[in-house]
Amino acid sequence: MSLGFQVEVRAGAARAARLTTPHGEVSTPVFMPVGTLASVKGVSQELLEDLGVEILLGNTYHLYLRPGIDEIRRLGGLHRFMSWPRGILTDSGGFQVFSLSDLRTISEEGVRFRSHLDGSTHLFSPESAVEAQIGLGADIIMAFDQCPEYRANPEQQRAAMELTLRWAERSKRYFEQHKNEVPWTRKVQDFESPSSGHGSEPGLLPLGTGAPASGLAGQTQALFGIVQGGMDGALRKESAERTREIGFFGYAIGGLSVGEPRTMTREMVETTLEHLPSDQPRYLMGVGTPEEIVEYANLGIDMMDCVLPTRAARHGLLFTSEGRVSIKQVQYAGDENPVDANCRCRVCRRYSRAYLRHLYRSNEVLAQVLNTLHNLSFYLDTMRAVRHSICAGRGARSLSEVWSRTKP
Ligand SMILES: [Zn+2]
Repeated sequence: MSLGFQVEVRAGAARAARLTTPHGEVSTPVFMPVGTLASVKGVSQELLEDLGVEILLGNTYHLYLRPGIDEIRRLGGLHRFMSWPRGILTDSGGFQVFSLSDLRTISEEGVRFRSHLDGSTHLFSPESAVEAQIGLGADIIMAFDQCPEYRANPEQQRAAMELTLRWAERSKRYFEQHKNEVPWTRKVQDFESPSSGHGSEPGLLPLGTGAPASGLAGQTQALFGIVQGGMDGALRKESAERTREIGFFGYAIGGLSVGEPRTMTREMVETTLEHLPSDQPRYLMGVGTPEEIVEYANLGIDMMDCVLPTRAARHGLLFTSEGRVSIKQVQYAGDENPVDANCRCRVCRRYSRAYLRHLYRSNEVLAQVLNTLHNLSFYLDTMRAVRHSICAGRGARSLSEVWSRTKP
């Protein structure tokens, strides 16, 4: 399968599309679960497949520090390392460098930072961030950008946007020169023939043989540019237009959900979307709540990711069609109902609130697994329902509207 993006149906500003990646097709709008360290915490790849996940996200910063890009590249790339045959997107590492590492110095060259794990110092530049992402071999990779703080002053915002544009050009140049070095494009004749049945699924490489799956030789990744510009509509417009001039397969909106009020996030998303191409993928990074992902899909966003469903699950916070459930609360003791009577996930079909509360209070590992399964399922089903509404020619204006249509 070669890269592609086909808008199928439009309903108002929203659109349903098909994103084709070397590791399978993705129906959009899509929510991408976050698998920071080559793992969506608490959920195995088999279960993610069951949930219908078509693409997930890996974090370059974390994988670079542990286990290291070279190790993953030697093992055939991230798909093969984590035994995930479907789509993967990696971020550039920039956001984590700015949010996690103490001591970082920004220069024209890149960002020098200290690892949050052992204090060792490293440099991420547009070239090294793209090199790392080529080594990981995700289907979609991101240009290196500077995400300024929410409270940065106008001069700092403009400087960050200008630097991001120069870095975008360098990211693209490096990508064009090295895109054939992705670990899954090695030619079949470079390897012995595969011996085991593992890897029979399209796109998944057989273990222990070094052989690439058929159809991947010669394929390349898709590089996305990132629009910055803080909370300034004029800067956002300029950033979008100049990023388009550089030319990318798709465009991400970065630098939002960094502490600003939600009305401002929405305003910046709308402003930016006006200046992005209507026939290419648009990715809003790091949002949001179930209500927000419905809202942004209706504005015309195709891809979203957020740690919220998985992180909240580990803290016992469950999203449902009737609002949030904090499962530790005493009101759920003895409650035989499922978390959400409208949810058809394997947790809601089988377990009671009373049991989930007990697991959580007893600190059982299973609590994390089941809570995460439900939350991810809720997000994915929400997005599927939104897509269904778009395909039916209506948008879906709110979360409650989406779920009122799915009630049994
Ligand atoms: Zn459920």
